[in-house]
Amino acid sequence: MAKLTDPITILKGVGPNKAKVLAQLNIFTLRDLICHFPRAYEDRTRLVPIEKLETDKPACFRAMVMNTPRTSHIRKGLDLTRVQVADHTARLSLTFFNNRFAAEQLRYGQEYIFYGAVSGDFVGYSMTNPVFETLDSTPVTTRRILPIYPLTAGLTNAALMKLIRQAMAICDTPAEVIPESVRNQYGILPAHRAYQAIHEPSSMEEAELAKRRLIFEEFFIFSAGLSLMRASRAEKKVEPYANLNLKPFLGSLPFSLTGAQRRAIDEIVRDLGRGAPMNRLVQGDVGSGKTMVAAAAAYLAATNRKQAALMAPTEILAEQHYTSLSRLFTPLGIRVSLLTGSMSVKEKKSVRAAIEAGETDLVVGTHALITGATVFQDLGLVIADEQHRFGVGQRGALSAKGTDPHLLVMSATPIPRTLALLMYGDLEVSIIDELPPGRETVDTFLVTEAYRPRINAFIRRQVEEGHQCYVVCPAVEENGELNLKAATEWAEVLQQTVFPDLGVALLHGQMKGSEKEAVMGRFSKGQADILVATTVIEVGVDVPNATLMVIEDADRFGLSQLHQLRGRVGRGKAKSYCILTTHNRNPETVQRLKAFCKTNDGFKIAEEDLKMRGPGDFFGSRQSGLPAFQVASLSMDLQTLKDAQAASAAWIDTEGTADTPEATALRQRIGDLFSRTQGVMN
Ligand code: ADP
Ligand code: MG
Repeated sequence: MAKLTDPITILKGVGPNKAKVLAQLNIFTLRDLICHFPRAYEDRTRLVPIEKLETDKPACFRAMVMNTPRTSHIRKGLDLTRVQVADHTARLSLTFFNNRFAAEQLRYGQEYIFYGAVSGDFVGYSMTNPVFETLDSTPVTTRRILPIYPLTAGLTNAALMKLIRQAMAICDTPAEVIPESVRNQYGILPAHRAYQAIHEPSSMEEAELAKRRLIFEEFFIFSAGLSLMRASRAEKKVEPYANLNLKPFLGSLPFSLTGAQRRAIDEIVRDLGRGAPMNRLVQGDVGSGKTMVAAAAAYLAATNRKQAALMAPTEILAEQHYTSLSRLFTPLGIRVSLLTGSMSVKEKKSVRAAIEAGETDLVVGTHALITGATVFQDLGLVIADEQHRFGVGQRGALSAKGTDPHLLVMSATPIPRTLALLMYGDLEVSIIDELPPGRETVDTFLVTEAYRPRINAFIRRQVEEGHQCYVVCPAVEENGELNLKAATEWAEVLQQTVFPDLGVALLHGQMKGSEKEAVMGRFSKGQADILVATTVIEVGVDVPNATLMVIEDADRFGLSQLHQLRGRVGRGKAKSYCILTTHNRNPETVQRLKAFCKTNDGFKIAEEDLKMRGPGDFFGSRQSGLPAFQVASLSMDLQTLKDAQAASAAWIDTEGTADTPEATALRQRIGDLFSRTQGVMN
């Protein structure tokens, strides 16, 4: 018997070349092969009389060969074989191109099962290149449900079917991870049957059942993992913070907190005083003031002689948090330092030394730096800002660092409830559902290219009133075929020809960290009037003097992304605007963008976005921190998700740590899944 982890090269017919082809599909081991599931099926079980065959609809039929096949050589490289077949309803003429096999196999007077589509719509229509099998053969291409696999160049569906069959014959399918009681309760197929049936279903119903089982399995493993993480963190003991006095901090703020901010802070204070590590998600729309909530937590860590780390997804954001938090904390005697990739090796070294020696209280930096080599003297609190880039695996990795810090995750995007449940099943949630007073909604307009002169005039007017503008483009460099506004070129056009007298700056993700910071620094100090950028400014950037956001080719962005971008304006006292441009005339697209113009409610937008794009794209590619579900689709399989969640939670509570084969296999799969997720994130 072979093992699931064995390389595919142990299979007959898989040499180095075939292995390379399979690698294109991420198939390296027998497990990968067995878990390469069909994307669709063709139902070839039904036999249709020839008379009932429909044009261009492939189907199976049983027919007798009525003459000896005749092959004619048309020209070099083109042989044509013709043969007549018939059943009791009609005759049909078949044509094969370059098919020696057909010419040799089809015998006058014999019956076969064919599968193909007729063409032509007159009596005596014909069929080209059908596949066929003898009546006594094992059904491979006819009389069965044919799985249709995702393929790549150099690999046919038939070849892949054969390999999978071979693998299944020499090796067990992945072990059962769902206990029998759960399978019975939810009508779930056992693992072995499901893996068999997903590849070779005996009916479409069985294929459906197999698929449902595999979806359930994915969700079950994932939610069981979250439950385990939550349970193991809940068991950990930390010293409760003795000093929970926030008065000096609150007294130093230039404004009073909103009710929602106060409620979130209260919940955090309770967590920190309790003696188990905090696991909290703070969810609030853009501009709702999450930074201050994080600052309150960091303040308490510092006054309880613990270190805190604030992790931001980008250097720009880290820099910005560093600036505002040091302004706030330095007068209070709290030492703040910055750690980012673009600092010199020497600077990083000296900051790291200070962190290790306990000479700094709050470190602000990018994820990689803080989760990486940095050693803390006594890390008591980790705050992850703009969490959707902070995956489940990374949360696990933190506790694995040996410390059990309190964890506070700040959500940038309002996440639909269902998705939040899945991503943050291991966290408690605080919601900030109130914006600081005096915020007006951002008026949003959708326009076409015809409005260009008016857009330009509008930009100029904002600048003349002392404000600043963002112009966001979907690409960095000119992309001829798509005709998208590219940041680099567009910045040049604006500076050279449209606004030669104004300051136009450029910011995109391919610039070096230090360059980005310099540009951002100039813009936030008001030294540039217009910032042309890509979505690098999507998260967190806070320049309250900016009042206009122009988003070019807005149809290229997801709604949640547009909402994030729009959230960059309307952060000060002045009325703010957002202008979306588009060339796209697709009615659905226009409808979607118009709907966006009408609402400022991030939650509504998020739900809409999830429905439309699915979770993979929800946060931009690969940034959700979710594992890539292979079969499951979060927008379509919600009920299964809920079932799997309930089942896994109940099961973890009762026997998740038991030594049953299922529990052991489950823990193994959780480990694989979470380490893979982390791999994607880093
Ligand atoms: P986000 O929730 O998007 O992270 P920020 O924390 O960046 O929001 O806050 C947005 C802006 O609102 C900042 O300029 C911040 O100083 C300001 N702010 C935060 N809380 C309040 C408040 N209670 N009253 C007035 N302004 C506030
Ligand atoms: Mg923020």
